[in-house]
Amino acid sequence: MAKCNICEIANGNVESKKVYEDAHLVAILHPKPATPGHIILIPKHHYPILENLSNDLIGHMFNTASKISSSIFESMNIHGTNIFVQNGVPAGQTIPHIMVHIIPRNENDNINLMWQPKKLDQEELSTVELKIKEETKNIVIQKEKEKQQPVEERKLEQLGTDGEEENYLLKQLRRIP
Ligand SMILES: [Zn+2]
Repeated sequence: MAKCNICEIANGNVESKKVYEDAHLVAILHPKPATPGHIILIPKHHYPILENLSNDLIGHMFNTASKISSSIFESMNIHGTNIFVQNGVPAGQTIPHIMVHIIPRNENDNINLMWQPKKLDQEELSTVELKIKEETKNIVIQKEKEKQQPVEERKLEQLGTDGEEENYLLKQLRRIP
């Protein structure tokens, strides 16, 4: 597999403007920023998309993004930030290493992250609602299950799903040009 540029940056093999680092994450100034102070927050290990991250790492990453956002408010004298993830190729992801963008915003900065709102009728909205609810139902069930299971059982189950995750990851990699 070709070297991942983001891994190289995260592990300090390539020069970058590092503004934050801990055991799991690195934040650097985007070399081609949307606005001055545009930061990308990167996991040190290689994960192609958000779904590959553990619950703990996702929590830690978004907590840290929020803290970094506060730091930019203070240091750059700005009035807002956009915090977003390009999760998958159709969402604009160009490098198969997940990252969170933190973009400082001021009024009239001419950064365009807006979209044209679509009009769906009630039936279309309801169809989408049902489809998504069918899946989000499982989120609650899984959480409850985790709580009730003894630790040993959970460990086994995690081992069991590793293979699935690996396959999913490979599929994702194949999708990315
Ligand atoms: Zn990588």
